[in-house]
Amino acid sequence: MKCSKCKRDAVLFQRYSGMHLCEEHFTIDLETKVKKTIRKEGWIKSGDKIAVALSGGKDSTALLYFLKKTFAIRRDIEIFAVTIDEGISGYRDIKICENIAESGGVKFHTASFKEHFGITLNEIVQKKGDINSCSYCGVLRRQVLNKTARDAGATKIAYGFNLDDEAQSVMMNVLRGDAVTLLRKEKPVLGMLPRIKPFKTIPEREIALYARLHTEGYEERGCPYSHNALRADVRGILNQYNYSHPATKYALLNLGEKLKSGIPADNSGAETCAACGEPVFGTCRVCGMLKELKKE
Ligand code: SF4
Ligand code: ZN
Repeated sequence: MKCSKCKRDAVLFQRYSGMHLCEEHFTIDLETKVKKTIRKEGWIKSGDKIAVALSGGKDSTALLYFLKKTFAIRRDIEIFAVTIDEGISGYRDIKICENIAESGGVKFHTASFKEHFGITLNEIVQKKGDINSCSYCGVLRRQVLNKTARDAGATKIAYGFNLDDEAQSVMMNVLRGDAVTLLRKEKPVLGMLPRIKPFKTIPEREIALYARLHTEGYEERGCPYSHNALRADVRGILNQYNYSHPATKYALLNLGEKLKSGIPADNSGAETCAACGEPVFGTCRVCGMLKELKKE
């Protein structure tokens, strides 16, 4: 197939636009959309220091490449990488992340669960079983990532979440009947860095192609604990449904964003945990988890 814009060989067919795109026109198309999202959301401003949450996978590697390329000429904006070592043997490889940061020409910061909490995710799984791995991992990582990025001078944290991730999250909240998460705005808390998601409108397969075309050295293995059954089911359902209704994932993303304005942010509860001193929404889930883990 030939590119709809220039007649070179196409590398992608976009069902939702009906266009075949060559490498160059695909790259321009994707980067234009991401820049538009960043502008529309007012996400990156003069003076910003953006910490990219680098997992070493395709999404965050592609995001680091995109941000560095786009903002390389801006001396008033800094991009760097932060990787958290949860302590998952055979998966999280700090060296891979360090190499990606180095080839992207950005500074690299890292911290681990072991040094922060005295326990690795592998050890938590031994105590709690792997069914609970992602709940512990998500809560603990958010705090260490925020603290490490903040200590490195970041003003924002950039995540590589793509359209599929966002649509799946909305759908999962619907299937769980979790109205509060769907409706409530996140409350800004002092010390908690704002999160930005520049790839939120780009389908996963396009991010995978972008990463393959422009980056190298990223991790292709998945986390050994990533068997979240609901997310896997939802991903399958959405991919199937999206085939005959190509706008479905965008519709879910938009729905999720529109719903978020329904309930104002919860202004009750403490903003700083008395025990660990880190910013929290209400009670500190990190300290709760650590206390419970020490008991066993
Ligand atoms: Fe952590 Fe779960 Fe992600 Fe693995 S899949 S890194 S356990 S959140
Ligand atoms: Zn072309």
